[in-house]
Amino acid sequence: MSDPTVPLRLMAPTPPRGKPPRHWADLTVPDRLEAVARAGLPSFRAKQIAAHYCHHLSGQPADWTDLSVDHRHRVADLFPELLHWLGDRQCDDGATVKSLYRLFDGELVETVLMRYGLTEQATVGPRGLRSTLCVSSQAGCGMACPFCATGQLGLRRNLSTAEIVEQIRLGARCLADGALPGGPGRLHNVVFMGMGEPLANYRSVLAAIRQTTAPAPAGFGLSARGLTVSTCGLVPAIEKLSQEGLPVTLAVSLHAPDDDLRDRLVPVNRRWPVARLLDAAWGYAQATGRRVSIEYALMRDLNDQPARADHLAELLRARGHWGWFHVNLIPLNRVPGSPWTASRRRDQDAFRRRLEATGVPVTVRDSRGQEIDGACGQLAANWRQTEPDRPGPAEADHPRPDGSVPD
Ligand code: SAH
Repeated sequence: MSDPTVPLRLMAPTPPRGKPPRHWADLTVPDRLEAVARAGLPSFRAKQIAAHYCHHLSGQPADWTDLSVDHRHRVADLFPELLHWLGDRQCDDGATVKSLYRLFDGELVETVLMRYGLTEQATVGPRGLRSTLCVSSQAGCGMACPFCATGQLGLRRNLSTAEIVEQIRLGARCLADGALPGGPGRLHNVVFMGMGEPLANYRSVLAAIRQTTAPAPAGFGLSARGLTVSTCGLVPAIEKLSQEGLPVTLAVSLHAPDDDLRDRLVPVNRRWPVARLLDAAWGYAQATGRRVSIEYALMRDLNDQPARADHLAELLRARGHWGWFHVNLIPLNRVPGSPWTASRRRDQDAFRRRLEATGVPVTVRDSRGQEIDGACGQLAANWRQTEPDRPGPAEADHPRPDGSVPD
């Protein structure tokens, strides 16, 4: 029974029921041809439709005026609105945009679009601009890493292929429309570092990657090298991914070199401990020729001691020459209500220097979007996390640019 003291917007939505509606982006190329034929259109229309979707990044048949009104109606079912845009939040002078979407069953997911190179634009020109979209692969996440906002939500459900592809299309469309500073441009990189564990939704993520990298009109034509799949360490899935013949970058969220600590920080470590994970990561580098990114979020007095830097260097070196990996240090981002804190600046610097001294290639990640809770591990698009005295995110945190309330 509903509790009358809880405002309507804070009550749980109806539990997820069924699968998301089938969408063009869920279909293989032959299935698309068949679907177009079944809708009563001649097969050459399939290519035209694909060009609208993949090349012009348009997902609304109503806008495709080179098709007759009747044909537009007939294919409308293949393009249901899977992501209902609820609003954006921006920071970094508009160069970082977090978007919130509602899915067909009321689940919420977020993406973060980032444009780089704006400050150097005067010298490098618009061609020097790079854009990265951080996408979600699941609603919530079942991996339960205690320092991650999404981890606190638990797994709500896997996203379908088209729900992932649509995030990418909408991000690319935003750039093409010139919605970000620097003028119209294209999407270069997609990182599966939003909500969810991509390798726990392997089939949909893989299909979305294939579609993103297929040349138009079958897909968006992004280079596979521009895609990064980040995992907390599902070893069998890493091994499988290494055999797909896709040169995507693998990022491994390591965060600790020793099992004692990693068991606590990344609970899946109890199943696949550090040694097995690093072996799989090394195997991935061997199989694909791609440098693996080792992610290490620095947490105050927990994993940021010089001895742990030495231990990390030792483990990585033991698996081969330095070229197979790169270490990315991430200053821990604030997650409201969480006791976890970022390392002191001096400890972060000492940790980095210690790695550098042994020859480890290392960078400290510039964490974009912190003020809008859009940085690594901050995505938790869920009103259940909303503090009780604040209005829900759809109403207050994500107003439309014109100030109106999304429906
Ligand atoms: N499930 C995938 C993708 C998740 S998010 C994974 O675990 O890799 C991408 C990265 O952000 C991961 O490295 C994750 O460990 C890290 N992360 C999570 N919470 C964070 C926080 N509060 N501050 C900084 N990084 C965080």
